[in-house]
Amino acid sequence: MSERSERIDQHRAGAVIFDFFGTLSESASARERHAGHERVAAVLGVPVEVYADAVRGSWPDRARGRLGDLEATMRWLARACGVEPDDETCAAACAARRSTQSGYVRLRPDAAPTLRALKQRGVRVGLVSDCTHELPACWPTLPVAGYVDAPVFSVEVGVKKPDPAIYLLVCERLGVAPEDCVYVGDGDSNELPGAEAVGMRALRLIAPDHVDAHVIDPISWSGRSITALGDVLALNEPDGPQVFSR
Ligand SMILES: [Mg+2]
Repeated sequence: MSERSERIDQHRAGAVIFDFFGTLSESASARERHAGHERVAAVLGVPVEVYADAVRGSWPDRARGRLGDLEATMRWLARACGVEPDDETCAAACAARRSTQSGYVRLRPDAAPTLRALKQRGVRVGLVSDCTHELPACWPTLPVAGYVDAPVFSVEVGVKKPDPAIYLLVCERLGVAPEDCVYVGDGDSNELPGAEAVGMRALRLIAPDHVDAHVIDPISWSGRSITALGDVLALNEPDGPQVFSR
């Protein structure tokens, strides 16, 4: 056993950091995302392909909050599609966007029970999500919110994964060192190598809904994986995954 792995194995997980889309929440399929784009594009009166291209191309800026609030972002997208919506049209497009985005929030059945069990075991819980304004807006209403000590949303903090700053920020808010954290995600946004680069131990969640999922960056990961969120509860058990053990 190497010096580094001995050091890791002497640790217990002080915190578990979760991704949101595709991890605590089921993935939305590429087809579903396209249908969402069709709704907004129809309101704006632009071709869906043009709108979808504008959405895709602006993701790094939208995820960092650089295009302003939802209304300002919608006006930016409309202009990128060659139209200038009036206030009523813009409001209707924002409403369509909110509605489609809220449809992508589908918590896995074991999400809240797993987070609750972690809290009961004294493990701190964090969230790091690359997202736009809609997720932090609905976050307080979600049944997992009460179990998350530090939710970090890219759109609010101005950085996204895999920038080390976003992982270090959640650690700072949790009061834990990266080396004492396990990071769990489906792997989009190069989040797993990003987590390991700051010293966290990363686990990829592999779930059936990932097969048709819309992903932004191709996922390549040969590290450890789990097939259910509840698997993280075994992390500190003697016979659990060899990430942290007594
Ligand atoms: Mg994800």
